[in-house]
Amino acid sequence: MGLAAGVNHAMRSAILAAADSPRVRRFVSKHGMRLGAGRFVAGETLDECIPVLRSLGERGLYANTTLLGEGVRDEHEAAAVVVRYEEVLDRLAGTKANVALKLTHLGLELDEELAYANLERLVARGSFIRIDMEQSAFVDATLRIYRRLRDAGFENVGAVLQAYLYRSGDDLAALAPLRPNLRIVKGAYLEPAAIAYPAKPDVDAAYVRLLEESLSGDGYTAVATHDDRMIEHAIRFTEEHGIGRDRFEFQMLYGVRPRLQQDLAARGYKVLVATPYGPEWYPYLMRRLGERPANLLFFVRNLIRG
Ligand SMILES: Cc1cc2nc3c(=O)[nH]c(=O)nc-3n(C[C@H](O)[C@H](O)[C@H](O)COP(=O)(O)OP(=O)(O)OC[C@H]3O[C@@H](n4cnc5c(N)ncnc54)[C@H](O)[C@@H]3O)c2cc1C
Repeated sequence: MGLAAGVNHAMRSAILAAADSPRVRRFVSKHGMRLGAGRFVAGETLDECIPVLRSLGERGLYANTTLLGEGVRDEHEAAAVVVRYEEVLDRLAGTKANVALKLTHLGLELDEELAYANLERLVARGSFIRIDMEQSAFVDATLRIYRRLRDAGFENVGAVLQAYLYRSGDDLAALAPLRPNLRIVKGAYLEPAAIAYPAKPDVDAAYVRLLEESLSGDGYTAVATHDDRMIEHAIRFTEEHGIGRDRFEFQMLYGVRPRLQQDLAARGYKVLVATPYGPEWYPYLMRRLGERPANLLFFVRNLIRG
């Protein structure tokens, strides 16, 4: 690892570790929106989020939204999350936006059957839903639930594979017969070296391998990255191999590289902007800060300006 990459990796680990501190959580939760969390989160309510989704659509961009939140205390809380997602799906009908969600928000930590039943209820409404991938402890259960839904005949559901996990190549091969709709990401959580590449160049190389494998298969690939090299590689690879633009899309996060999003759309590629909302934005924001320590400077500057 080079010096700059090493410093970035250390900062990322420090930010993700600090995120667990109750003092950091209290401070950021109280002041975060004023300090700039709104750059990454489209408001705390669905009413605030909908105009943002609409304005992305007007600029030729697709979107998905997520009610931010991870983990629920009991099945009643999970049921309340399902009801809120039903409202989201109703409000999105007829727009260019769909939903991405986390299974822990639907009760995965409590009971896999509960999470499955909750997700099935939402998927049965017919709109496309992507299941985000969370910490490594949830990967097996998440892939099991995805497979169960596909086996039950639901085509309107997608999953995510994280390139930093050593296992993801095997997971992709195992899913291939399903012609899966997969979002390929580098991975956003702090994982031990026993299961995930610790060095960024290795993650990048694994990302390229996973991307090529997914694009070469019969499924649909969401190339979810802000990394120019990965994006241009995907474009070259699909052109060289005659892979049509209806077989893949680019995805980026709301607030991250908006000009690049617009440029790709202008070049005729489908671009989806992941645009979350909700009052529980703290862990999401901390992962975004961890991805790019420069984002922390953006916060600190706002803190100093008052
Ligand atoms: C649509 C979408 C969905 C995702 N879903 C998941 C998921 O389900 N599970 C999961 O583990 N991870 C998910 N991620 C996060 C992902 O794993 C990475 O942590 C994140 O995308 C940063 O990696 P990168 O590919 O952009 O490349 P990097 O090498 O980290 O970054 C490349 C360049 O992109 C820019 N950049 C990257 N991140 C930021 C940022 N936060 N702020 C400003 N600039 C930035 C910088 O210019 C940087 O140099 C998702 C990412 C996207 C785009």
